Amino acid sequence: MSKLVAFAAIQGGYNIVSRVDGEYRKALETFNADTKVGFPNTAYYLPVIYSLTGLKVETLEDMRRPLDFARKLLPPHIKNRNHLPYLGPLLDAGMAALFAFEIQEALRYLNQPDFYHVSEECDPENGKLWLGAAEDTIFRKRGVEFVDGSAPGFAAIVGAAPNPEIAKLIIEEYQKRSIYVFLAANQNGTSVSEQLVEAGVQVGWNTKIVPFGPDISSAIFALGFANRVAMAFGGVQPGDYKKILLYNKNRVFAFVNALGEVGTDWAAAAAGCVNWGFPTLADTDIPEILPTGVCTYEHVVANVAHEEMVQKSVEIRGLKVTVSQIDIPCNFGPAYEGERVRGADLYTQMGGGKTQNTELVKMAEMNEIEDGKVIIVGPDIKDIKEGDVLPLGVFVQVAGREMQVDFEPILERQMHHLINYIQGIMHMGQRDIAWIRVSKAAVEKGFTLKDIGVVLHAKFHQDFGAILDKVQVTIYSKKDDVAKLTTKARAEYSTRDERVDKMTDEDVEIFYSCTLCQSFAPSHVCTVSPERTGLCGAYNWMDCRASFQINPTGPNQPIEKGECLDPKLGQFKGVNEFVAKASRGAVTHYNFYSMVIDPMTTCGCCECIAAMLPSCNGVMTVNREYSGETPCGMKFTTLAGVMGGGASSPGFVGHSKFNITQRKFIKGDGGILRMVWMPKILKEEIRERFTQRAEELGIPDLIDRIADETVGITEEEILPFLQEKGHPALTMDPIIG
Ligand code: SF4
Ligand code: ZN
Repeated sequence: MSKLVAFAAIQGGYNIVSRVDGEYRKALETFNADTKVGFPNTAYYLPVIYSLTGLKVETLEDMRRPLDFARKLLPPHIKNRNHLPYLGPLLDAGMAALFAFEIQEALRYLNQPDFYHVSEECDPENGKLWLGAAEDTIFRKRGVEFVDGSAPGFAAIVGAAPNPEIAKLIIEEYQKRSIYVFLAANQNGTSVSEQLVEAGVQVGWNTKIVPFGPDISSAIFALGFANRVAMAFGGVQPGDYKKILLYNKNRVFAFVNALGEVGTDWAAAAAGCVNWGFPTLADTDIPEILPTGVCTYEHVVANVAHEEMVQKSVEIRGLKVTVSQIDIPCNFGPAYEGERVRGADLYTQMGGGKTQNTELVKMAEMNEIEDGKVIIVGPDIKDIKEGDVLPLGVFVQVAGREMQVDFEPILERQMHHLINYIQGIMHMGQRDIAWIRVSKAAVEKGFTLKDIGVVLHAKFHQDFGAILDKVQVTIYSKKDDVAKLTTKARAEYSTRDERVDKMTDEDVEIFYSCTLCQSFAPSHVCTVSPERTGLCGAYNWMDCRASFQINPTGPNQPIEKGECLDPKLGQFKGVNEFVAKASRGAVTHYNFYSMVIDPMTTCGCCECIAAMLPSCNGVMTVNREYSGETPCGMKFTTLAGVMGGGASSPGFVGHSKFNITQRKFIKGDGGILRMVWMPKILKEEIRERFTQRAEELGIPDLIDRIADETVGITEEEILPFLQEKGHPALTMDPIIG
């Protein structure tokens, strides 16, 4: 903390208290001590003093005690040679100044009863600009907005901008965010309030721009408003100063913008506001107070450029911006989630085996990205004709003080349902096997790639506002760029997958549910354990845990696994109970480590589907990217169509690619030693990890004993190959008992 700021604030505290003391004495000479004082039409007396001390100031006489109180709060003067003071004395000096300010304003009501316009509306043409303290009727109507969330907070702006245009620019940014603007104080005789009137901006409670008064003391009306919110809506008792201040810190998202030179009076007021957790941002070069402590983040930040004032304020106060409007030409909402785009309606598609389509969410530094920016690199929908296809790479960068790398996969997985929310757009898959189909109807309405970015920005803010502050989206639609993004993304995916590599199901008592896919497959409940990554490949145990942390009532709930009913097949009492409930009775139990006997349920987004091959005494699996025939007689798409509705289908199971190389994969059926057929691309993709597992089982060349489409696509075709290679499955117990 800067000694200079502390010095100025403490000096300011002294000046203000002694000045108001003088005014008070003068008032006592003019009026009787029992003269009524107070703000008009309120049951909260002088609300800052009342809320924090419990003192009810009703008469001139009653002002004596809070004034004495303020004087006692003043800390000893700092001498130049002293070390830096603690925050405490500074806060006390600020509080003393604020008590004095409230008395000063009450004295103004006494001395100049017509100074403030007692109304909700300003009347600047008739010289009635200043509104002073809000009456209880106004306060009740407006205060509730701070509680129900329709007003995210308020900006108390003191001073004047360099010119009316800049004043207008700043205020409009706040208006866009539904943030109230409370105006006080002047800078060399001019104020933001007057500048706005000059720029033709309507001010008053109904436009959420409230000119309290021309002097810094009128800033007290903002704090009085905030404290009344705590008492009226937060149920905090007057005098419980700790709770009042905490309520404000946690619930009323307010901050101060100081425009113009900051003198000692302003410094004292700013220090006072820190007690509320309200930080100050200044456009001048004042000494900063950066370390966080009382305020959620920084206390005083200097040299903020006018065009950054709003964004920076919002960031520093930790205020969450809600984007209520999603500005795209198509309808949007959960109602459109399950809608299909069939062949005849199709205008264009990205992914689905025709082109590469990759999604990646990465965390960024706050200053690296710009919130709301959507960048399109390459051709857009309007640049192609019906029937054309496009490669696609959607790269989302998010920043936030609460953001963690662990949250990336959770955000990334949201793209599936969020893009599906757009009417006429269908999204399937995830990671590097995403698939988007765009209907003719959507293109007629004007859908462009940018809309994907607009949706992700808005919904990420809405749904994950607690962890992120900025979202920037880059959409690539040129082959090379998409390939580059895909390489980068694959490296990320394997890092994520490997985080659970050293964990076993026995290590933990808690598994996690995932019901994200229930909108497509109503009875589908994934249970994700360390050794059973979600079948979409996008959620592992760590991801589910992080997701639960972000959203405790969301789709990933902890499940106490409970008693192990069958260690071989992997059945747990706690999981069964959970699944029965979450599937509304449709599924009563399932096994983690078997595809033959009561396997886990399967939904349409699985990366692979395994199937039994009884004549080979083994199993096969096929991944989504492989579009050819398989020895079980069905292609991937057919299998997904039959199994993907959320049922448990003995003999088949959906699983992730990574799961094949997790040690418990169909362990109850014999594990990977049962694997007799896989498409070549899948073999190559997982070769390294698969071989590690095979070595552990004593057959290091197992992968080369497994048939693929070059050997055959029927059981009859592959059996001789398996015999020739001496595949271990042939000598295992019969797969069907
Ligand atoms: Fe969750 Fe399973 Fe759907 Fe993946 S497939 S999102 S783990 S429900
Ligand atoms: Zn699914």
